[in-house]
Formats: sequence, C-alpha cells, structure tokens
Amino acid sequence: MTSHSALVSAPSITALCAASASHVAIEAVLETGSTNADLLARLSDLGTLPGPLLRIADQQSAGRGRAGRSWLSTPGAALMFSLAWRFKGPLHRMTGLPMAVGVALAETIIGLGVPVQIKWPNDLLRDGDKLAGILVETCVDKTDGAIWAVIGTGINLLMPDALEQQIGRSVAAAPWLAQMDRNALVAALLSRLAAVLSEFDDTGFAPFAERWNALHAWHGREVVLLDDGQVRQQGRAVGVDAIGRLLLATPGGLVEVLSGDVSLRLSPDTPTGDTACS
Ligand code: ATP
Repeated sequence: MTSHSALVSAPSITALCAASASHVAIEAVLETGSTNADLLARLSDLGTLPGPLLRIADQQSAGRGRAGRSWLSTPGAALMFSLAWRFKGPLHRMTGLPMAVGVALAETIIGLGVPVQIKWPNDLLRDGDKLAGILVETCVDKTDGAIWAVIGTGINLLMPDALEQQIGRSVAAAPWLAQMDRNALVAALLSRLAAVLSEFDDTGFAPFAERWNALHAWHGREVVLLDDGQVRQQGRAVGVDAIGRLLLATPGGLVEVLSGDVSLRLSPDTPTGDTACS
C-alpha cells in the first residue's frame, strides 16, 4: 500500500516510466543529506557513471539550494530527487539547462492538474509562491571530458505550518499531487525530464525558449536582480532569449542577464494588481 510517507519503489517507478527514461537507473533511500551531494560525490570518486542515475530520498537532512542556500523539508512532505545525466556539451550550452529543466517539470505538473509558472531562472511558482526549486550542478567526466549535470529538484507536496515558519516566507504546496501514487508521480516527472534532456543535448535551449516564455511568471513586471543582497540590475522582465538569459527592458535598452547566483525579486514599487501572466 502506498501512503503519503511511504518510500517509493525503484522497480515500480521503472515499470511506470515512458521509453524516454527506460535506461535510467533508479535508487530510492529513506534519508540522506542531499541527493545532489551524493551523486556529485559518486561522480568525483568514480570519475564517471555507467549511465543516467536517479536518486530519490524521502527526507534530506541537508537539502541544498543555489549559492549555499538551504532547501528545507520534513519526511514525506516533498518530492526530492536528483538525476545525473551525461551531456556531449559544449560547456557553454549548459547555461540554458536549468531553464529547460524548469520547462520539463512545469509542463508535467500542469499536465497533472496543478497550474504553475516559472520564475527565472527556474523556480516553479504556484499562485506566486514557490512550489519547487531546482539546482543544477555540473562536473566533468574524468574518462573522456564529457559533462555530467546533477539536476536536483524539490517539490512541496504538503507544507506543514511549522516548516513554513522555519522557511520564513510564504511557500506553496500541491496536496493534489500528494494524493497521487508517488511512483506514478516520479515516473511522470522523470519521463518528461529525460525526453527534454535528450533533446536539449542535441539542440541546446533554443527550442525551449518559447515554451519557457509561455510559462513566465513575471512577464512584463518590474523586477530587481539581487547579487549578495545588493541590487545589481533593475528593469521590466520580458522573457528569456535562445540561450536562457533573462531579458530586462531598462531605460538604457535591453539587458541580457546570465543566471549565475543572482536572485530575482519583484520591484518593491510595482503595483501588485497587474500580474501579467502569459
Ligand atoms: P530564491 O528562491 O530566494 O529566489 P533561489 O532561486 O536561488 O532563490 P533555491 O536555491 O532554488 O532558491 O532555493 C533556496 C531557497 O528556497 C531558500 O533560500 C529558501 O528561501 C527557499 N526554500 C527553502 N526550502 C523551501 C521549501 N521547502 N519550499 C519553498 N522554498 C524553500
């Protein structure tokens, strides 16, 4: 029987996956520090992996976000997994990967009945609050110089009050997804993700730009870019370009922003009633 907190089963996920993900090895554990850290350590130790590998945990004691930030969860309340995937490169193409992953996950979640949008570069928002975070970390295959990306995802299924207080901001959850069979949910996400990653490896981000822009949460809104708490850039968010850079309309013209470690916020003096959702 599957309950909300039950550990998923790797063979069940495999059995439910589409052909796009049939070659992905899956390991499920009850708890770990960080599934991203686990896979990166494995790649560092072994130099390579025999193929794509998904590692999923019921609970992470040291979940990671970008730039050393934390991803917080309680057992069974979130879906947390990391996928190690090998890319041909070139390295500069990888800048668009976090946004392509955002498209894959957003489209899957929408298809399952939960409306979400993407905040650049790749947070998934539900009604303006963060439902899911994505962390992409890369390393080089020591055997042949190809690129491994470890793609970590945390999706809030339930959000206990105590956890929201600990996070310290209003966050979203998707109880509708929490009612689904966990194995089927993971299989749906992994199948779409694998299809997108294969396509991305051949084409880069360009074919995904239009899809990302159709899901853009803050399209047309005044935003600020924060770098280490300091406002680095300000303008109107108009979407992403063919390599995944955020385009900001500023008085000085269009500015392209590479994701790096900057954080995007709505400009404090933006009226809240004019959310332009595409
Ligand atoms: P931000 O969300 O602040 O713009 P970011 O996109 O870099 O930054 P991530 O690295 O994806 O964020 O995630 C880390 C941040 O997410 C933390 O700083 C915290 O504010 C928030 N957070 C942590 N746990 C959760 C959670 N379970 N649900 C939603 N948000 C969370």
